[in-house]
Amino acid sequence: MTKSICDPITEIKGIGEETAANLAAMNIVTVGDLLEHFPYRYEDYRLRDLTEVKHEERVTVEGKVHSEPSLQFFGKKKSRLTIRLLVGRYLIKAVFFNQAYLKTTFSINDMITVSGKWDQHRQTITVSQYKSGSHQQMEEFESIYATKGKLTSKGIRRFIKEALKHYSQAIEENLPPYCLQTYQLLSRSEAFRSYHFPKNNEEVKQARRRFVYEEFLHFQLKMQALRKMEREHAAGSAKHYNLQKLKQFISTLPFPLTTAQKRTVNEICADLKAPFRMNRLLQGDVGSGKTVVSAIAIYASITAGYQGALMVPTEILAEQHAASFRSMLEPMGIKIALLTSSVKGKKRQEMLQGLQDGEIDCMIGTHALIQEDVSFQNLGLVITDEQHRFGVEQRRILKDKGLYPDTLFMTATPIPRTLAITAFGEMDVSIIDEMPAGRKPVETYWAKHEMLERVLQFMEKELRNGRQAYVICPLIEESDKLDVQNAIDVYEMLTTYYGSRYSVALMHGRLSSQDKDAAMQAFSANKTQILVATTVVEVGVNVPNATMMIIYDAERFGLAQLHQLRGRVGRGSDQSFCVLLANPKTAIGKERMRIMTETNDGFVLSERDLELRGPGDFFGKKQSGLPEFKVADMVHDYRALETARKDAIKFIHSESFWEQEDYAPLRNYLEKTGALSGNKLD
Ligand code: ADP
Ligand code: MG
Repeated sequence: MTKSICDPITEIKGIGEETAANLAAMNIVTVGDLLEHFPYRYEDYRLRDLTEVKHEERVTVEGKVHSEPSLQFFGKKKSRLTIRLLVGRYLIKAVFFNQAYLKTTFSINDMITVSGKWDQHRQTITVSQYKSGSHQQMEEFESIYATKGKLTSKGIRRFIKEALKHYSQAIEENLPPYCLQTYQLLSRSEAFRSYHFPKNNEEVKQARRRFVYEEFLHFQLKMQALRKMEREHAAGSAKHYNLQKLKQFISTLPFPLTTAQKRTVNEICADLKAPFRMNRLLQGDVGSGKTVVSAIAIYASITAGYQGALMVPTEILAEQHAASFRSMLEPMGIKIALLTSSVKGKKRQEMLQGLQDGEIDCMIGTHALIQEDVSFQNLGLVITDEQHRFGVEQRRILKDKGLYPDTLFMTATPIPRTLAITAFGEMDVSIIDEMPAGRKPVETYWAKHEMLERVLQFMEKELRNGRQAYVICPLIEESDKLDVQNAIDVYEMLTTYYGSRYSVALMHGRLSSQDKDAAMQAFSANKTQILVATTVVEVGVNVPNATMMIIYDAERFGLAQLHQLRGRVGRGSDQSFCVLLANPKTAIGKERMRIMTETNDGFVLSERDLELRGPGDFFGKKQSGLPEFKVADMVHDYRALETARKDAIKFIHSESFWEQEDYAPLRNYLEKTGALSGNKLD
């Protein structure tokens, strides 16, 4: 029978049912799975010159046994066996613990190789590995594997050796010659051999390089295939917007668009005009001016005869957006409606009717907008603010309703490029990488909790100048009572501290939406000067007179989130301040606070956040949805990721990819993952 790497692992000598079950617990079922169980590190057994070895370092030496072994016992089971070993010109000691049986193994003048920790003062190696004979008979690197249950790293290593012995002919190349040649990559079978049994560091590096590229290429092919499918099969419509009106609208704005805003508007308009469905991510740091871009897009779509919808994560934000859309678009004769949970009964009925009749041009609200009983006459564009809170699910709902509008996702979380092309690889991305002129960066300080008194005095100075302040308390789970209590305590403390001089309000997620609105409105109108809040104010809230923010326990937030929060101040023309109250315990915690005080650039922060916390934590637990790679690391291998992405785009759009034999393995891969039938989007 011909061997295939899809054979079950029980085909490998030494793997019985019990071992197979243990391996299965690690998702190793086939020979191929076993081969892809890569070592996570290597033990280095290369010979070293003792003069170069530092105290307590690991070392491997070969030498001649120079004395009869001497054996000492401590208690019943513990023993120490010492032999003198002549290594080159040096006479050293080799000590074996609890291996009394070795006493008869070594004779004078035997050549042996030992490995272990070097004690420079005692000129002694505490042996952890040994081998009779000279070093040549020993492998220089030992691969070390993750294990489970009764499995050992050595056992796994033996199985892999066995697998490579019998299956190396069965390992088929899955990359086209073009890639192997262009990047000088090892063949798949060579790469397995080198990764598991390398002769030197270079072999490990080359093997890794090959698998990193393979993983990224597969992943990007899947993304690009999905994207192509979307374009070709998603029923979109070409929207012939009125450029004249659009230009006129832009000229009514109180400010000129930044270059970055203009570029993004053009990118969006090109998508609107194209016959395929837009699927675009719009990234822009807090305050970069995404709202006006979204208003222009919606207006464009309306001039082409379609309705638009703007979805936001909270009702507070919906109200704010409705207000700013009204001030911009109503003068253009556009009818805007705001649908929130407080719109009820007859009013709601009328609104839904207006939407169905096409009398309402633009609907703003939370995600309830596209669910429930809402139907549009002719929905052409859906814009979602703070993309990471919605996503795939929302598109499914629209599709279920038979709606195929253009979609634009806006996010103020500057997603590092490597994550953006990983998590949103099937989307087009526009970036607003420029701030409107005249913004002053928020001055940020880090203070220990002990300094609270001074921080409050500082805050009072701002208040005395007629300014307002946010005091943010951490809230990890909206339902966490402890966290809410935290905010209440701070609220009470501040009420006592400022007495009748300033009025303090409290806002957290457990309040009813009326109470939340009331608190927000009072703050907006400067009826309260201090707003104690949990992270509900994180997104979008706009009160330009607020120039001061204190963030409690800042070390509990991610950098990206701190940056979002901080973006609530610095929205006017005056200097704003942000104080991070934190007593971080770890070096990384301190580093994070320091970074916050040093930069106002959201992209820099998010890159650092990614480095410090890793991709899994970047988006928070709820929506990581990031792919897991066996070998590749999105952060450190980003160059390979870019290369693989470019190649994937090129392949997907070339005829040869779909026809030539060279690319058959990649096509098969796509077939298997379902990317070609577009299943992934449902
Ligand atoms: P975000 O991208 O965080 O949603 P906004 O759209 O809320 O930012 O814009 C922040 C502020 O900047 C708003 O007050 C808006 O009116 C203003 N703004 C937007 N674009 C410009 C511009 N080109 N020039 C000056 N101010 C602008
Ligand atoms: Mg915004």
